[in-house]
Amino acid sequence: MSRPSPVPPPLLGRIGRVKGWALRLMFGGGSVLALLTLLLPAPGAPNLPVGQLLFLLTAVMGLGVVALTWQRPGVLRSERFDTLFMVLGNVCAFTSSLGEALLFGTSYSEHVALWPMVFAAGFLGRRLLRTQAVLTPPLLALAVYSRSLWVTGSERWWLEALVLAVPVVITGLIIGFFRAAAEDEAEELTQQVGTDPLTGLANRRALHEDFGRLLARLPPGHRVAVIMLDLDHFKLVNDRYGHRIGDDVLRCFAGVLRSHAQPHDLLVRVGGEEFVWVTAEAALDPVMARVEAARAAHAAHPDARAVTVSAGLVCHEASEPLSAGHLDDLLGRADAALYAAKAAGRNCLQLYGGPRPVLEPA
Ligand code: GH3
Ligand code: MG
Ligand code: MG
Repeated sequence: MSRPSPVPPPLLGRIGRVKGWALRLMFGGGSVLALLTLLLPAPGAPNLPVGQLLFLLTAVMGLGVVALTWQRPGVLRSERFDTLFMVLGNVCAFTSSLGEALLFGTSYSEHVALWPMVFAAGFLGRRLLRTQAVLTPPLLALAVYSRSLWVTGSERWWLEALVLAVPVVITGLIIGFFRAAAEDEAEELTQQVGTDPLTGLANRRALHEDFGRLLARLPPGHRVAVIMLDLDHFKLVNDRYGHRIGDDVLRCFAGVLRSHAQPHDLLVRVGGEEFVWVTAEAALDPVMARVEAARAAHAAHPDARAVTVSAGLVCHEASEPLSAGHLDDLLGRADAALYAAKAAGRNCLQLYGGPRPVLEPA
């Protein structure tokens, strides 16, 4: 069997696109402002050439980031580039603050320090957000101190820096808290979307993604068995005892499956009283033994209302390549084996193309 194909990397997604636009707005807006500033007359500038050079540098760095995110949107997924964007954001905020002081002696640009902070809070990992929160006060202090040293001569530079830095850091932390809560909620919803509420097992929606994850964990050449299970004459339980007891039987079977599965097996309720069990097992016999044990345990369970289980099993051959795309094919074969089990009188396990009744491909 060839190496299982890796799970495809997630597409850029909505958040990635918003992150791209946030970067382009911040760096693009900063560059335009820097270029406009260069056009303004600066009579009596404390240091005209250095001030102009700093604004030119700001504009070049900003446009560079805009071009990079435009040409290669893939960089928006990389943590290495996240660090680069954060460093450049801080450098640009610093050079524009200093440039303004050296050209005009004013300090309007210092609040631009808010941008890297807000960007880190909204889009970067928690480690980078913490780093940004720690870096912001000394960077602002350095900008204000440099201005006081070369331009204003104010001795209260530390107070000015403090008044600037505290709201910037607090704004970033508030956005960070809000984002963490939103992410937790989104994760919970994702979990719910892939879970069957009656049994707590995965549902059909989660099956393909979970299968891809299972394959990615397996060493090359490992076999995978897919078992399709269906409760026999389940409609009669509903007719005889009512839907609520029918639900109890479904929950009971889910519990039996859980207690017979291996830790990394996939257990999925794919439909009303149909279940799929995917297990990574090198040998066929132990898989069959576990399925037979689960069937027997359910039939003997006091809550099962004597409902038996039919099952169809297909084992992927180790010599064949296996990727996430093969799941539908495997499910089709397991379903054909289940159909044969029903045709053979129910309450049995049938193997697709195996030593028991050999089945024709579906
Ligand atoms: P077979 O042995 O051929 O599989 O027969 P069966 O009666 O099990 O299969 P059939 O497809 O005829 O009926 C399935 C029944 O499962 C019909 C439906 O009412 C019931 N069912 C589906 N979902 C649920 C559920 O969530 N709760 C309950 N209690 N019953 C359900
Ligand atoms: Mg049934
Ligand atoms: Mg059925």
